[in-house]
Amino acid sequence: MIVVLKQNSDKERVERLMQHFTDMGLRINYSEGEDTTILGLMGDTTRLDEGDIMAYDVVERVQRVTEPFKAVNRKFHPEDTIIEVAGRKIGAGYFNVMAGPCSVENEAQIVECAERVKAAGASFLRGGAFKPRTSPYSFQGLEAEGLKLLLEAKRQTGLPIVTEIMSEKHLDLFADVDIIQLGARNMQNFMLLKELGRCNKPILLKRGLSATMEEFLMAAEYIFAGGNKQVILCERGIRTFEKMIRNNLDLSAVPLVKMFSHLPIIIDPSHAAGRRDMVQPLSRAAIAAGADGLIIEAHNDPKHALCDGAQSLDLDQFDHVMSDIKRRAEFEGRVMMP
Ligand code: PEP
Ligand code: MN
Repeated sequence: MIVVLKQNSDKERVERLMQHFTDMGLRINYSEGEDTTILGLMGDTTRLDEGDIMAYDVVERVQRVTEPFKAVNRKFHPEDTIIEVAGRKIGAGYFNVMAGPCSVENEAQIVECAERVKAAGASFLRGGAFKPRTSPYSFQGLEAEGLKLLLEAKRQTGLPIVTEIMSEKHLDLFADVDIIQLGARNMQNFMLLKELGRCNKPILLKRGLSATMEEFLMAAEYIFAGGNKQVILCERGIRTFEKMIRNNLDLSAVPLVKMFSHLPIIIDPSHAAGRRDMVQPLSRAAIAAGADGLIIEAHNDPKHALCDGAQSLDLDQFDHVMSDIKRRAEFEGRVMMP
């Protein structure tokens, strides 16, 4: 980190600032030029906050030169992280498709979806039991009952499950869930991030609607900071000015994550566009960009779905899209997980 000092700053105050950095275990490279004096800080600067440094009145400007995330940073962990869950590997070329309805609605629905997505080649069953809805009057999910039905579908088909948590108070209910999803709206719910950091389960962390890549990776850093190193990132579209699609898939997230982090990243083409006719082209693009998997909404009867019907594939459409995904993933050298 570079700290630029104001011209003609009081020497004693500068020394006080330097002492503050030394007390934090940092080394300082002091460089006095004709007009500008610069402090180059070396060591672990992740605990420094630019705003706090600006509070010293001798400081003109602060410039970070290294990323504020450390545990999830590829610099300190060059190999791709592989997450192993329920006999499946995620990351480093192992490709997974998680599929199922937006929400669990009843036993027949979730079991039929599970059987069909499994037969088509999905490696995880998705389905929301706790649903974050914009309107309090919309279907909120079956909650604890929904989790039971998901577990029943898992028992009948053998497919591991991924489902969203909305409050740390519910963590006990998630004991038999294979991957806990942290939804876009909760990406910066810091209490929840801390609790998930303390639990010993893989977390599917979805990018917030308007989160920068740095904020996204810092959210993953929170989970790591608590001791949990099993994080799968998910890009699911961000808000832009475009109105013809629900969100805008930010595919650059894939190569950026690969450059800056060792964590796997999957793509959610369903929430990204909000329309089922874009799921296939966006899935193809995700594979080409280097994603480690996809999470896709598929429903036995999308017209009557209680949530996100417009973006859900029906089960025949899912079959068709899935065979295309398998071909393309194999062509790109990914190993499909069964
Ligand atoms: C979902 O997966 O159904 C969901 C609500 O996703 P997101 O948090 O990305 O909106
Ligand atoms: Mn949904």
